[in-house]
Amino acid sequence: MSNTPVERVYIGLGSNLADPAEQLRNALKALARLPASELAGVSSFYVSDSLLPGQPRFTNAVAALDTALTPLALLDALQAIELDQGRERHERWGPRTLDLDILLFGERVIDEPRLKVPHYHMQARAFVLYPLAELAPGLRLADGRDLSALLADCPFVGLERLSAQA
Ligand code: AMP
Repeated sequence: MSNTPVERVYIGLGSNLADPAEQLRNALKALARLPASELAGVSSFYVSDSLLPGQPRFTNAVAALDTALTPLALLDALQAIELDQGRERHERWGPRTLDLDILLFGERVIDEPRLKVPHYHMQARAFVLYPLAELAPGLRLADGRDLSALLADCPFVGLERLSAQA
């Protein structure tokens, strides 16, 4: 087996169906079981308004994973976890039992048909930036922008931080 370097990855978790907090807890257990990987940290859980009116609110969190998997192998693994937890993919922006996004993969910029990193949610989504800041307050993106600068442009609106991962 080749010696793949371990890289720090940040994964966004979201759910707005079927007991969302339980979906996130199960997803975290599945992340902790991934091969060649170690779950290094988990943010608080947050509740966020759906971007589409009329949809249930989302529960969100961010996890830090140290992994030697390649980006596409990790994407495959995350999609397997989503399917395992019953996600249906009929409607692009519809309710989902579980959504797992690769937000950052080390310092990499990835532009492949199946995988864009940094994830587009990185830019201005409070439900990504605030939990990420709990884990990595001094983070600097590959393009040189600081997470603190993104946060300054992203008000804490439509978001509620839960006291525990519950
Ligand atoms: P979504 O419905 O938002 O979960 O989008 C799922 C699709 O986004 C999948 O088909 C992935 O191949 C693609 N995708 C592109 N970039 C990423 C990323 N950084 N993390 C997860 N999925 C991604």
